[in-house]
Amino acid sequence: MSEKITLAADGTLNVPVEPIIPFIEGDGTGVYIWPAARAVLDAAAAKRGRKVAWKEVLAGEKAFNETGDWLPEQTVIDFRDHLVGIKGPLTTPIGGGIRSLNVALRQMLDLYVCLRPVRWFTGVPSPVKHPELVDMVIFRENTEDVYAGLELESGTKEVAKLIGFLHDEYGWDIRHDSGIGIKPISTTGSKRLIRAAVQYAVERGRKSVTMVHKGNIQKFTEGAFRGWGYDLVREEFADVAVGWDDCGGDPGDKVLVKDSIADITLQQVLTRPTDFDVIATTNLNCDYLSDALAAQVGGIGIAPGANINYVTGHGIFEATHGTAPKYAGQDKVNPGSLLLSGVLMFEHLGWKDAAADIITAMEATIADKIVTYDFARLMEGATEVKCSEFASAVIDRL
Ligand code: NAP
Repeated sequence: MSEKITLAADGTLNVPVEPIIPFIEGDGTGVYIWPAARAVLDAAAAKRGRKVAWKEVLAGEKAFNETGDWLPEQTVIDFRDHLVGIKGPLTTPIGGGIRSLNVALRQMLDLYVCLRPVRWFTGVPSPVKHPELVDMVIFRENTEDVYAGLELESGTKEVAKLIGFLHDEYGWDIRHDSGIGIKPISTTGSKRLIRAAVQYAVERGRKSVTMVHKGNIQKFTEGAFRGWGYDLVREEFADVAVGWDDCGGDPGDKVLVKDSIADITLQQVLTRPTDFDVIATTNLNCDYLSDALAAQVGGIGIAPGANINYVTGHGIFEATHGTAPKYAGQDKVNPGSLLLSGVLMFEHLGWKDAAADIITAMEATIADKIVTYDFARLMEGATEVKCSEFASAVIDRL
């Protein structure tokens, strides 16, 4: 019998034998990648004697066409009630009341961690010589920074008022024709993000957590993020983790927590990827970093993601790419990003066996050079298949 996932008193998930999991199909290419990903997830679950009771919820174009609402209230209620869900990519309505459906969902459920594992899968074409050395898990702060949407447009009376206030109160001279954006970074937001990253590193036996920031320039936001992280390690993780300055770079058998400035990080993840393991960073830094890293291991066609609140247990697993409008209505693109997001979801549910089976089958498919267009154009001798055919090939190898 299908049942809801619930949160246990100790903060872990109670996952029934047949959990009800809401899904959003997604717009554009979502119409093809979701059924493809779902078929593989169902087959892998069945092989391990498990089953998901999928429950469709609406958002995006499908929701708008059926209800007149881009993000119906019932969808948010369903995600809230069922704790764990998955979604395909959504179009951001232009000129609509909602800036981005993805951002709206994250804010409504306070999904403060954006989790983006980046690793190479055997056989995937890559522009670097040693993609196998890339094995990083990025924790992106999901609620603050310049993404808070606190912006005033150049030339408006609101921005003139703020410029006047900043001049009068702080003596700051800002050009009168400036637009202004506010970048809030709080102790609360920083610590809960870094806490999740350190906990993850400890639980998974990872070696280090690197806090990536631009604190040399933005001292009270990015620099404070770094400082609060080191404080947190001393306050809450002294028995299992240690900050660089507190151990001279020699953590013994503890997790090493260190930091790195954002610009040099973008170089070093390329030149010495083994220096990086778990990464905790602010919202905008991660936006740059995760796409650059995805390129090293095969591109956004196979980059998975999740938005999680580790306190309430809420998690929405999602493809990190968009709707790829130029391929809309075609059974063509790589379902890997959404499928691997489903793998992350299975791991989150504790279904590690089914998750591992999918990875093995996907690697076997790629090793046989059966791939979608995005990989086929980078591989010699590949057999290019449709989105749905790739899913069937993975199922055949489960
Ligand atoms: P996009 O949809 O991510 O597509 C950009 C390019 O990425 C595509 O042209 C394609 O590259 C590649 N790509 C995307 N999905 C792929 C897949 N499954 N397999 C292989 N390659 C894939 O970005 P966009 O065109 O900037 O955005 C389109 C819409 O998506 C916008 O409405 C945007 O707001 C929305 N969006 C949604 C999300 C989300 O729901 N999480 C995220 C980002 C954007 P090639 O051209 O090289 O083939």
